[in-house]
Amino acid sequence: MSDRSQPATKKTVPSPSNAKGHKMPESVAGGGMADAERDILAELDKALGEHITLLLRWNRKLTLPDSPAQDDLDSHEYHDEHDHDCDFGAWYTLNRHNRLIDQPAMHALATTHQQLHESAKRLLEGYELDGEVDSAEFDMMALRAESFFAQLRRLERAFRTARSDVDPLTGTYNRQTMLGDLNAERERAIRTGVPTAVALVDLDHFKAVNDTHGHQAGDIVLQSVAGILQSHVRPFDKVYRYGGEEFLICLPNADMKQCARVLERLRRVIEASPITITDTAALPVTASIGAAPMTKGRTVEQTIEKADQALYAAKEGGRNRVRVWRNPEDKDKNQVAAQVAAQKK
Ligand code: GH3
Ligand code: MG
Ligand code: MG
Repeated sequence: MSDRSQPATKKTVPSPSNAKGHKMPESVAGGGMADAERDILAELDKALGEHITLLLRWNRKLTLPDSPAQDDLDSHEYHDEHDHDCDFGAWYTLNRHNRLIDQPAMHALATTHQQLHESAKRLLEGYELDGEVDSAEFDMMALRAESFFAQLRRLERAFRTARSDVDPLTGTYNRQTMLGDLNAERERAIRTGVPTAVALVDLDHFKAVNDTHGHQAGDIVLQSVAGILQSHVRPFDKVYRYGGEEFLICLPNADMKQCARVLERLRRVIEASPITITDTAALPVTASIGAAPMTKGRTVEQTIEKADQALYAAKEGGRNRVRVWRNPEDKDKNQVAAQVAAQKK
């Protein structure tokens, strides 16, 4: 409920070049650093998902050879290439001369990626020929997959830390990008009429965590809660570190009822996830949450204020609960202000 600000970290990075005239994503070519890095992160994320799917597909082929997967059945144009479908290789080839991508770690990733596909191809072809899984080939493929995922994750981490719009402790977006994002979301909500909400999440009695277990344990709790928030919001929701132990979540495409549902789910996950701070200690943590809708009649700052009022009500109501701001003059329309906490068992 406080309003601490964090120092901005400004960096000067040379704008990306396009040495061979390849077509690059607009934001990469355009030189907006945050956008370019965001594109690369999105691509790495996509590669992770694609290759998990491919691994499952390859495993299925080897273990259940006579039973095509459902999506094979759905796809009438099934052919062998389908087994190796992924966009990462093409993306890398197209963008490899970009300054952000032209670096040893990214080249190493591309090499491992290629080796992984070669391994899988050999393994599947060998199996189709003599009906046996070559164990050495299988182990090689597994090793390469493991190495590919490890390299991907290392690169993602490096990109995230280098980004100027991410909070270094928690990996959530920082306050510097928040207002711009929220203003854009507000304008979009007004233009399209799609409801959008803002929520503030404040850890309960967090000072006591620092006082009892030390600041480092406090940091671990912040990182873990940030991880929970990021992995349990919907894919298009965005989590920001608003202050010390406070996070702000922007929830596009959510009326207050949906918003309350998402937030209540978050509250429950936090409550049910004691955080391991040492080998022997796990700490139960709870959070209070307040939310308010974005409207034409209020600025973003005013919306945050309303969410803060709802958060205050959640604290006053006993903590570990969700409160949604209700316009006292608009009770009829605002049915959703129904206190989610009341549903708590
Ligand atoms: P309430 O339930 O009312 O929210 O109580 P609280 O103890 O959570 O709130 P209070 O505002 O009293 O304390 C917040 C604490 O968060 C105090 C501050 O030292 C701590 N804090 C802020 N930033 C960080 C950080 O980056 N790391 C750690 N470990 N602690 C932090
Ligand atoms: Mg606080
Ligand atoms: Mg607190």
